[in-house]
Amino acid sequence: MNNTNLWDKCLESFCDNLSEKQMKTWIHPLEASCNSDTLSVIAPNKFIKDTVESDFIELIRETVLIKSNNEVSIVKLSLPEVKATARITPKIKSSSIKSSLNADLNFENFVEGKSNQLAKAACMSVVKELGQYNPLYIYGGVGLGKTHLLHSIGNEILKQDKRKRVVYLHSEKFVQNMITAIRTNKIEEFKDFYRSVDALLLDDIQFFANKEKSQEEFFHTFNTLFEYKKQVVLTSDKYPKEIAGLEERIKSRLVWGMSVTIDPPDLETRVAILHGKAEAVNQKIPDDVAYYLAKNVYSNVRELEGSLRRVLATAHFKRAPVTLAFTKETLKDLISLQERLMTIEQIQKTVAAYYNVRVSDLLSAKRDRKITLPRHIAMSIAKQLTSHSLPTIGDAFGGRDHTTVLHACKKVKALKLASASVDQDCQNILHTLNN
Ligand code: ADP
Ligand code: MG
Repeated sequence: MNNTNLWDKCLESFCDNLSEKQMKTWIHPLEASCNSDTLSVIAPNKFIKDTVESDFIELIRETVLIKSNNEVSIVKLSLPEVKATARITPKIKSSSIKSSLNADLNFENFVEGKSNQLAKAACMSVVKELGQYNPLYIYGGVGLGKTHLLHSIGNEILKQDKRKRVVYLHSEKFVQNMITAIRTNKIEEFKDFYRSVDALLLDDIQFFANKEKSQEEFFHTFNTLFEYKKQVVLTSDKYPKEIAGLEERIKSRLVWGMSVTIDPPDLETRVAILHGKAEAVNQKIPDDVAYYLAKNVYSNVRELEGSLRRVLATAHFKRAPVTLAFTKETLKDLISLQERLMTIEQIQKTVAAYYNVRVSDLLSAKRDRKITLPRHIAMSIAKQLTSHSLPTIGDAFGGRDHTTVLHACKKVKALKLASASVDQDCQNILHTLNN
């Protein structure tokens, strides 16, 4: 049997047995090839291999046997072969490497909560063994701590071994440096520089979208670092697949590692972050003030921090104590604005009412068109009107995958063009929501 065919058939059958999240995290990263009676499955890293071995291997064996009509009876699970790792002799002196790390952003003052636990754990394990998950891809909305984690990784690597060459860089800066290098005929130095680091921490790589030349250079640099088991950590506010204008081969390379999401923090975490930030400037804020801020400013940590800073600065300036009343007064314009912002629940309620279905139906697994159309519309409006990331929206719709949300958005876009009534429905719903 044709081997892609066999694995594709197995994938279909896994979909019936496993959740989308399981598929995305553990099964899709696998690569399979078939040779007579043996299916070789390659897991991109040890983490995935171990989990597949303990949780999914039986299912895989059974499915392969059935789908191949008992022809393929052996399933081998392994890690990619590692090429012989010659060390690059760096031409660049380590003293000339500027890390650009901000020492104030470290693991100690990164407050952990459900929303960022996995991301933080992955970052910490990267430090323990450089090159283990390569690349590590951190994605999440603005102001949720991606840059903070990137600096934390760099600082921690240097804390453990100060001879390590670590470079933190915003993608915009990478592009600028490259352009300068081309202009001044120093592209070889540019290449040597990046290829001689132990860890490259590249922030906001959505910035590479539609920049072909920089993508090319980044891709080569990245491949070299990868081959020599140097660590690459990337952040983005988008998942690789969503970055329009990023080449396919780069996208697929980027997911060949480990990716983790940061979601907006829950209330308790926001309160803990506020106390931490106040302490960092030697101030103390009462609990009721922290709760008030955390309750009202929820979309991202940067805004939360901004509102705290504003309260502290005003208190200092007016020589007033930071009380709840004082905080309310200081932030009254800001908070009323937040209150007017749309929530996903509001959108779900409005869409459900419009189509005369229940909100629980929207969140359920039901698949008849009476439910799927409103569900798709609600997801696409949530994407349009809120600043939540695709994974967060997926979660709010009964724990669906971000690709489902993406699919819903595309589908609704097409439907609106094809059907005047769907288009009208969407307009009516938006109208209701905006009043
Ligand atoms: P992003 O890069 O995702 O846009 P940043 O890393 O710049 O976000 O975070 C914005 C601000 O919020 C920074 O000041 C950062 O220190 C703070 N922050 C975010 N998450 C946390 C956290 N879990 N604990 C402490 N501070 C945080
Ligand atoms: Mg950032």
